[in-house]
Amino acid sequence: MNEFRLDPETLSFSLISRSKEGCRACLLDIKESSSVPFGNSLIKIYEMKDYVQPSKYELSGDFFKKSEADGYEELLVFSREHGKTRLKDMDKEALENIFSVIADRVKQLEKYGFGGNIAASSYLKGHGYFDMVMLDIPWNSTGACKECGYIKNSGNREIYSDDHICAYASFAPAHEVDICIAPKAHVSMAGSDPVVLFGLADITKKLIGVLGEDATLSLMEAGDGHMKIKICSGASGPFESLGMHHVHTDPEEISKELRKKLK
Ligand SMILES: [Zn+2]
Ligand SMILES: [Zn+2]
Repeated sequence: MNEFRLDPETLSFSLISRSKEGCRACLLDIKESSSVPFGNSLIKIYEMKDYVQPSKYELSGDFFKKSEADGYEELLVFSREHGKTRLKDMDKEALENIFSVIADRVKQLEKYGFGGNIAASSYLKGHGYFDMVMLDIPWNSTGACKECGYIKNSGNREIYSDDHICAYASFAPAHEVDICIAPKAHVSMAGSDPVVLFGLADITKKLIGVLGEDATLSLMEAGDGHMKIKICSGASGPFESLGMHHVHTDPEEISKELRKKLK
């Protein structure tokens, strides 16, 4: 069972998926759907269908809402050896290369209309790969671009700023370290160019360097068509980057087991 649910109290989405946790590149038993050049090697692209698919379960009543949205997910695997890749060992050129491969994928996939909530997150503890999702939810578009607002109001949370780029700590962080690096111009991933991506890779590399610890790096845009880089401490995934919770056991199953044990 894989299902997106909206909590009526916090208005946050949860993805409930039964799939195993762990390095998904190690669990891959499918052939890559395509590959693109990456330095002297290749980035292999795998379409994933286990997390993102329509719900099979109906919940009754108006209070709880679930999504029928399915969206799209793929893994972009750039290192085949498990446990060898660390973000802070990657140079600026490799980062820029990855950013442009991801932006190109978004450009190619745009025509399918999977949704404007896009996140590609690096996986910390295994193979070198980015896990990319494109979703219709969370439905957080309010008309005005939130990212433009965040940049304008970064104030004393600002870390770096030049004519083109602003880096700031999130106003309401979800992790100990929760940093955004965004182009000041309102530009989407699909609309980005090499100059934007180079600038983002440059400050991303510098920030990863001074942070010292390995972090999750996400290239994303959340509904507003304004791309950004997110650096978060610890290991998280693309769903978390979009502000969703991701759990691997469904609450109905847990309740059933506990009811049984209570008897
Ligand atoms: Zn692995
Ligand atoms: Zn904007």
